[in-house]
Amino acid sequence: MSGVLTDTRSAELYARALELLPGGVNSPVRAMRAIGRDPVFVARGQGAELVDVDGNSYVDYVCSWGPLVHGHAHPEILSAVAEAAQAGTTFGAPTEGEVELAAEVAARMPSVEMLRMTSSGTEAAMSAVRLARAATGRETVLKFAGAYHGHFDGLLAEAGSGLATQGIPSSPGVPAAATAATVVVPWNDREALHAATERHELAAILAEPYPANMGLVPPEEGFLELLRARADATGALLVFDEVITGFRVARGGAQELAGILPDLTVMGKVIGGGLPAAAYGGSRALMELIAPAGAVYQAGTLSGNPLAVAAGRATLALLDADAYARLETITERLAAGLREAAASTGCPVLVTTAPGLLTVFFAAGPVRDYAQASACDRAAHAAWCRALLARGVYPPPSQFEAWFPSLAHDEAHVERTVTAAAEAFAEIG
Ligand SMILES: *Cc1c(COP(=O)(O)O)cnc(C)c1O
Repeated sequence: MSGVLTDTRSAELYARALELLPGGVNSPVRAMRAIGRDPVFVARGQGAELVDVDGNSYVDYVCSWGPLVHGHAHPEILSAVAEAAQAGTTFGAPTEGEVELAAEVAARMPSVEMLRMTSSGTEAAMSAVRLARAATGRETVLKFAGAYHGHFDGLLAEAGSGLATQGIPSSPGVPAAATAATVVVPWNDREALHAATERHELAAILAEPYPANMGLVPPEEGFLELLRARADATGALLVFDEVITGFRVARGGAQELAGILPDLTVMGKVIGGGLPAAAYGGSRALMELIAPAGAVYQAGTLSGNPLAVAAGRATLALLDADAYARLETITERLAAGLREAAASTGCPVLVTTAPGLLTVFFAAGPVRDYAQASACDRAAHAAWCRALLARGVYPPPSQFEAWFPSLAHDEAHVERTVTAAAEAFAEIG
């Protein structure tokens, strides 16, 4: 079973796509270059499964990179969207649904009293940074190496070494000036955090509370507490980017799970239930700095889009206490199975988890930051992913992404996955 067949419908579409879309895709990681094969073109999804344009089916652990906590094509979400569409797709005027979704979000997220909706997580993070700068009258923001907050210029920066450094743009086209006010610190590094918060007058400390964009690298004991303490001691705002963790790791996101409240929260993915929606929120006092209540400008033609709002409301309505218990159980079953499969073949891996999130690091030792994540055996990871795809399991095709088990994944899916994983470990070992 080869990972790359040349006479498939996927291959045909990819060849055409390469002529029309840069790299053949509309978002880079979809191209699967990190695992050295061509992308799969998807025909449809149902529950935990995907079917590609050649009729192959897969247990899907990408789930659109996070939004699909209920899996694909959940009937209640589909009918909510269809019903909303019947009434018109967009108005550029307020609707009842937006108020209801805002009330639901505020009821769930412990630190959110008020929110502003956007169409993407990138926009929401960018706007939260603007608000933090306006609220503090300061410009510099601190982010962690390996953390992703969307693709806007100011945060496309990562550190070179262990101590805090001034941000260096990590993409051509980002002006040095755009990241000059960004300080990058290694995740889980208390001393570097302390030094950077002493040295710079910060508008914001920005963190993914359970970073999942360098693979899942959970905070060490006390690290989120330290973020809160350093923000309080220095007058910076603490901003949690919960685009992945929000409504996933717990009803009230990572802030509820960890018991640490940020000043501002960035949300996305699950909040839109598979349609384009995101938001940022916080206290009334901070959020009323946003126009037209206040002077900080931010707007969006499709913000609060009725279809996305309907999908988001239907998605949240299905997320009760039982759902979170099931999501945690299925994640832990999967993790245990993958660890066993690796152990039985002697393949050194580290499986990290949070409810609804998991990463298989090809590492013999601990992974506590981006440098250690980068030092993993990426070639072995790539080979393992190709072997999984050939066996009908669709993992995130990069060492720096998390698996997204969903509520549609059941014991049978886990069993299929673990069997395929064991064979794949054996194949690459
Ligand atoms: C996906 C993601 C974003 C960006 O959201 P988009 O909707 O892709 O713009 C921001 N922050 C985190 C933590 C993310 O995972």
